[in-house]
Amino acid sequence: MLFPKINLHIHSNYSDGKQSIKRIVEKAIKLEFNYIAITDHFTNSWKAWVSTLKNLDVISTYLEEISSYQEYLSVLNSQLTLLKGLEVDLDSSEGFIKKYLQIDKFDLILFEYLQSPESIAFIENLINYWKLSELDNIPILGLAHFDPSYFIMGNLDNLMIFLKKYNIYFEFNSSYPSFYSTRYKQFFDKLKEYEIPVAIGCDSHSLANLNDSDEPLEMIKYYNLERNFEILIKFLEIKRRQSFFPLK
Ligand SMILES: [Zn+2]
Repeated sequence: MLFPKINLHIHSNYSDGKQSIKRIVEKAIKLEFNYIAITDHFTNSWKAWVSTLKNLDVISTYLEEISSYQEYLSVLNSQLTLLKGLEVDLDSSEGFIKKYLQIDKFDLILFEYLQSPESIAFIENLINYWKLSELDNIPILGLAHFDPSYFIMGNLDNLMIFLKKYNIYFEFNSSYPSFYSTRYKQFFDKLKEYEIPVAIGCDSHSLANLNDSDEPLEMIKYYNLERNFEILIKFLEIKRRQSFFPLK
């Protein structure tokens, strides 16, 4: 089967990426991508050193700019679908996230640094607060550069039940190949067993690694996770239809 070409983890100069959204979109068209997501950083963690989408004004400018390129691609009838994403640092405070993150404005939310059962509870609290089931526009949810080593020693089933319950995907991130190393085969077998969606993101901070999606796709095939990837592609197809016929 021929899979669509995707990169769902890209930073622009709204946070610590080097390129404008315009340049990223132009390059993605040239590279014949089907789906890309701009996923700039969102954090107030004391550890955060990156520039981030910190206040409502910056976030609304960011969203307006991505919307204008979504419209542009729609008018062109381009093969490329652009998603409005955000990478949420789980070391941020709950109050900060609840105050500034209007979840239904986004197509895709990545959570970074899920490393403990406490962070699972943190995400569950947020999801319950957002009441996703009552929204018109439910974002796709994923784990950014998730490190299986934190869970491989015993909490794997709890993790899988959580991911399954909320349709949260695992990202094959080409900037962190050690996280899909074959020593974690047991983890990938669990993803298969529970039919957890999987995606591809390159954590691109410049145009140089925008196109690194081939190796992750090879690894998805290596672990026999094509079915899991198809689940994710179905979510993306829904987003594509919405971006051509926006609800509001
Ligand atoms: Zn990132």
